[in-house]
Amino acid sequence: MTMEEALCTLRSAWNGPRVFHVVTANAEMIHRSLADRELAEAMDKAELVTADGAGGVLASRILGCPLPERVAGYDLAVKCLEQAAAEGVPVFLLGARPEVLEEAKSNLQAQMPGLQIVGSHHGYFEQSDEMELLHRISSAGPGLLLVALGAPAQEKFIFRHKKILPPCAAIGVGGSFDVFAGRVKRAPRWIQRGGLEWLYRICRNPSRLGRARALPLFLYEVLRQYLSAGEKRH
Ligand code: UDP
Repeated sequence: MTMEEALCTLRSAWNGPRVFHVVTANAEMIHRSLADRELAEAMDKAELVTADGAGGVLASRILGCPLPERVAGYDLAVKCLEQAAAEGVPVFLLGARPEVLEEAKSNLQAQMPGLQIVGSHHGYFEQSDEMELLHRISSAGPGLLLVALGAPAQEKFIFRHKKILPPCAAIGVGGSFDVFAGRVKRAPRWIQRGGLEWLYRICRNPSRLGRARALPLFLYEVLRQYLSAGEKRH
């Protein structure tokens, strides 16, 4: 799907009868899903999986099922929030550190008049607090639930609680609240267009370097699948 098509699908989903889970998958997450069965299942059973990064789009082209474009979690979250504000759809924000969440909320409310944030909770809760949190989300009755716990925790949270969560569009949006809060900057557009946002994020935050090990492994797996499909053809 293109970004516009994804947005259009989500607009019907937030009035729908059940949870509509959106995974915005990057190369790291896709690679991780090869070894993490719960993540793989959460992704398989999600209602929509988009390519969060350039790696997913490149892989789709190499493997002969090209995706039209990148639909990054942050960009999708912004579009959904703008649309939710315009349509009066209630929003629940879950994730990030408490002070980041508060800054994100006040920035969003200042930037998007009409945005109805009907509830929020930071992302550092114990498993024993989950039932109370789920009850809070249900009572708030959001049409749009943004979950910013980082991958794969956010995907697993939505997947595990799909039956308990109220009907809504639920999207895992990674570090988006840090950007809303103004604590983290997105890469300049030309870097995003060049498919190098991952490199920009590593340069800005070298502690992410360890996670980048997944990128060559992801590419290796894509090439392995491409070559084995070629062998089967011949
Ligand atoms: N986070 C959270 N609870 C946790 C761990 C992380 O709410 O137990 C938040 C963290 O504060 C940050 C986001 O999840 O806002 C993860 O951001 P990151 O950029 O690492 O996510 P990515 O997009 O790379 O998955």
